[in-house]
Amino acid sequence: MNTSIYRVRRGTKVRLQSWPTDDSTKFGGTKSTAKATLTELNLRLAELQQMLYAQAERRVLIVLQGMDTSGKDGTIKHVFRSINPLGVSAVNFKRPTEQELARDYLWRIHQHVPPRGHITIFNRSHYEDVLVVRVHGLVPESVWSKRYDHICDFERMLADEGTVIRKFFLHISKEEQKRRLQERLENPSKRWKFEHGDVEERKRWDSYQEAYEAVLSTTSQEFAPWYIVPSDKKWYRNLVISTTLIETLESMELRYPSVPGLAGICIE
Ligand code: AMP
Ligand code: MG
Repeated sequence: MNTSIYRVRRGTKVRLQSWPTDDSTKFGGTKSTAKATLTELNLRLAELQQMLYAQAERRVLIVLQGMDTSGKDGTIKHVFRSINPLGVSAVNFKRPTEQELARDYLWRIHQHVPPRGHITIFNRSHYEDVLVVRVHGLVPESVWSKRYDHICDFERMLADEGTVIRKFFLHISKEEQKRRLQERLENPSKRWKFEHGDVEERKRWDSYQEAYEAVLSTTSQEFAPWYIVPSDKKWYRNLVISTTLIETLESMELRYPSVPGLAGICIE
């Protein structure tokens, strides 16, 4: 599977309408073969992660963004399910607390970046500070408009210091969001995720899409690329993200560390 077609090249002016929300025919298999493929990918990802953890040199930061119901939680559950929990953490960024709002917007983010040997998944991120904040005018434009540059500089610093960054925008259609919100209302096991605010946010769909287009057009860099993942089909989304992460880890030349001075050790 070639996932580089979903990568946003630096300088691309992104118009989300021309990026697919469903591209699953590219997989050439059924949903059930996709599940079997995902299980294999899960195991490969776990092998690579074990080496990342053992080597304890490199760090990986994964950013997940997307509209409500786009599948950020589901991605974490299905893509990372085989990984050794010792080496991975997921951080949810919710509405900032008073303490967080009293500082600059990157303060709460920076303290959660991955340490050596670890993968950290951001479930929402610093990008909320140019998404929800822009859409709702929580700070003036003169403030949020400077943040695209800050964010690029922040990510460049992380990359220069050895963190590999991959960012995924889970792209769903407005119709698919309607189906998923409806499902949350009707299915008792999903109802807990329903928030009244979701209905209000849906009314601002176009403003959010515009805000995402600005993010995707200005913050996809070689060292921290965005992928626009067709996410109407959850199984296809999982395959795209797993495959991209495996390729990323494979490109990092991970290996188990050698332990010197073992010759002659005798265990009695
Ligand atoms: P959920 O992902 O459904 O748990 O919802 C988290 C909520 O927190 C979303 O409505 C986000 O827009 C909101 N949120 C996250 N970060 C920020 C931020 N920096 N400023 C305002 N709201 C935020
Ligand atoms: Mg929600």
